[in-house]
Amino acid sequence: MPIADVNKLRNVALLSHSGAGKTSLGEALLFQTKTITRMGRVDDGNTVSDYEPEEAKRTSSVQTSLLPCNWEGCKINLLDTPGYDDFAGEVVSALRVADAAVIVVAAPSGVELGAEKGWTRCEDAGLPRIFFVNKMDRENADFGRTLAQIQELFGRKCIPFQIPIGSEQSFTGVVDVLNLPADIPAEVADEVASAREQLVEAVAETDDELINKFLEGAEISDAELRAAAKKAVVSGEVVPVLAGSALANVGSSELLDAIVSFLPSPEEAGDVTTSDGSPVEPDADEPLAAFVFKTSADPFVGKLSFFRVYRGTFRSNSEVWNAEREQLERVGQVYFPCGKTQENAPEVGPGDIAAIGKLSATLTGDTLCQRENPTSFEPAEMPVGYYTMAVSPKTKADLDKMSTALARFVEEDPSLKLVRESSTNEILLAGLGDTHLEVAVERVKRKFGAELMLSLPKVAYKETITTTARTEYKHKKQTGGHGQYGHVLLRLEPLDRTEGFQFGTEVVGGSVPREYFPAVEKGVVKTLSEGVVAGYPVVDMKVVLYDGSFHDVDSSGISFEIAAGHAIRKGVHDANPQLLEPVVDLKVLVPDAVTGDVMGDMNGRRGRISGMTPQGGGMTLIEAEVPQAEVLRYATDLRSLTQGRGSYTQEFSHYEGVPMNIAQRVIDNAKKVREAERV
Ligand code: GDP
Repeated sequence: MPIADVNKLRNVALLSHSGAGKTSLGEALLFQTKTITRMGRVDDGNTVSDYEPEEAKRTSSVQTSLLPCNWEGCKINLLDTPGYDDFAGEVVSALRVADAAVIVVAAPSGVELGAEKGWTRCEDAGLPRIFFVNKMDRENADFGRTLAQIQELFGRKCIPFQIPIGSEQSFTGVVDVLNLPADIPAEVADEVASAREQLVEAVAETDDELINKFLEGAEISDAELRAAAKKAVVSGEVVPVLAGSALANVGSSELLDAIVSFLPSPEEAGDVTTSDGSPVEPDADEPLAAFVFKTSADPFVGKLSFFRVYRGTFRSNSEVWNAEREQLERVGQVYFPCGKTQENAPEVGPGDIAAIGKLSATLTGDTLCQRENPTSFEPAEMPVGYYTMAVSPKTKADLDKMSTALARFVEEDPSLKLVRESSTNEILLAGLGDTHLEVAVERVKRKFGAELMLSLPKVAYKETITTTARTEYKHKKQTGGHGQYGHVLLRLEPLDRTEGFQFGTEVVGGSVPREYFPAVEKGVVKTLSEGVVAGYPVVDMKVVLYDGSFHDVDSSGISFEIAAGHAIRKGVHDANPQLLEPVVDLKVLVPDAVTGDVMGDMNGRRGRISGMTPQGGGMTLIEAEVPQAEVLRYATDLRSLTQGRGSYTQEFSHYEGVPMNIAQRVIDNAKKVREAERV
């Protein structure tokens, strides 16, 4: 199979709110292009795109699938992205290698948040786009209303390139406004005429020659209009709005025509540069430069790396150089995946997208090239998740598999983070939301056979003292033979936050011999690390050994260690202990209209608001310090408070005293847990 002509390639991401019909549309396009012979249905869980069991179960995509198809001599690589926000990382990585996007809007529900976010992502990435108004066969589908909403939100540059014929059950097809057919159904004739006027004017405005012709009232030919329309769509000055029904497979061939006619080839898409700013031309004979945008962990083939070639030719059974890892990678069979099936690819040319199994060192975001011509591209900026849960193995057998399974799985999804939290002795998994983590756990089980459980993470409380206290303990045992004797007097002094633990000695006259000082310190440290009040480590205090006594025969290191442990336990109780909790800095970006609600909610979480700054675009940034214990589920809470429009970042700030009433609850809970563990 020859490599695809770079001018005849289209890399197109499908974006939308979850449920608008991307996966169904992908299926219709595969059917229309004869890539498949039978159309599957999302509701039957048998589409090409949603092939993973987690997707079939939810009837919703959780990852991007690559769906290549051929139309009118062009190869179209569709990237069907998940609509649900928890999987935004998949959208970001797909857009990193797409040259354009189709934003799907369901006509009955109109423009939903996912479509707005898709639009913003395209704006940020400078990607040309097309709207596809889907579900025109459904009740309440009104193209005019949806178009008006699109234009209101995204501007008058969104122009209908088609007018639907009929609606709901009687929706039968679309009229192409640019290539007017000879037989326009009478009921849409006026609408088509008005759309044609809009289109001619909008396209003419983007072209100096055409605008003169337009103003002079001269005839503009279809060929001129098409050429100018393509330029305008590629530059983003015009966004075509199309209509159809994925389920009924109406409007698919027109959408394919539009993708081929108006969306750019890799050559026509914007300039590509390496991370050091050197230009990269899509030339098959130049040295290889391929970017890995997605990694899929597979229990059988190991790792599957999806890449786009930007320059040169990627060959099966060759060697490539990973510039980031400075490692040579052996390349076996390269293939073009289509959902879960695949076709062997002896060679992959510039602009095209393919996959390779079993690369040993390569991760998402790496560039594969030739050793003599090391090249690297800037990786996509992945969304970072703050929704954190503790993961634990279900059985002992799962424990053995857990760490490798999780480590491999996290490689697959860079918006997941795995942290071992030493203060609570937990393994924490952070992601974009509850579904993100649930799906991760399901996939780890399916792919690596490790069954894991998720639970709310423990808060890493600490203990400290607030006043000075003196304490004494004598450890004395005379049980025939060698006895035990250790006697210490300690002074406890509170220190400022983050000063940690200090140990000092002020022993005069050798009442405790110097050789026992380390044992006293050891006993103190051991007890403080185990906690005194609620089992959390005691910090920010100074302990001074200032007196004691010893016995010539019976004293030993261990005796002094035991004495110190008892003394310090008593001392902490006498020094007005206090529970400390971690406080985090939250930066919350929310729509202006809900700032009041979000701030009220923050107060309810014992948050201290330190700033409120309008950011433009109808958004406000709220900054606050909040106890971590109050924001363990903030990702989901903020989503419901802001209907999914809010986002936030979270960073550890400092430790602070827990108010008395809350501290008592924490202490009681800790006690219950300890008792339960003892049983
Ligand atoms: P995605 O989440 O954007 O991928 O949307 P899906 O393709 O999973 O579709 C969501 C639901 O809408 C499924 O139940 C589909 O059967 C249904 N659906 C998708 N496209 C159409 C359409 O054109 N007409 C109708 N009536 N239903 C559709």
